[in-house]
Amino acid sequence: MVSGHGCFRAYLHRFKHEDSPECPFCPEFSEDAEHVFFTCPRFDIERRTLENVLKQKMGPDTLDQMMVSSKTAWEATSSFATDVLQQLRCSERERAKTRSK
Ligand SMILES: [Zn+2]
Repeated sequence: MVSGHGCFRAYLHRFKHEDSPECPFCPEFSEDAEHVFFTCPRFDIERRTLENVLKQKMGPDTLDQMMVSSKTAWEATSSFATDVLQQLRCSERERAKTRSK
């Protein structure tokens, strides 16, 4: 669990340092990890599902603590992150397709 947690942080870290274009949903924000995980309305449904499991609002300050608080919390958070990242990759592909036309 601890190594998985480290892995997730590494992922977040890497994601944050990638070139962040602006969010297609909210042009005033750049599409970085913090925005997509905690703020972007695109993932409201997923975020609400996760918060139901965690029984609290999630934010950059509390995420670490919540994730290690229980196996359930860790699993819910991981699947949320996987979901979000997968959808991001899909929309990136879509955008690439549109550009090449
Ligand atoms: Zn957004």
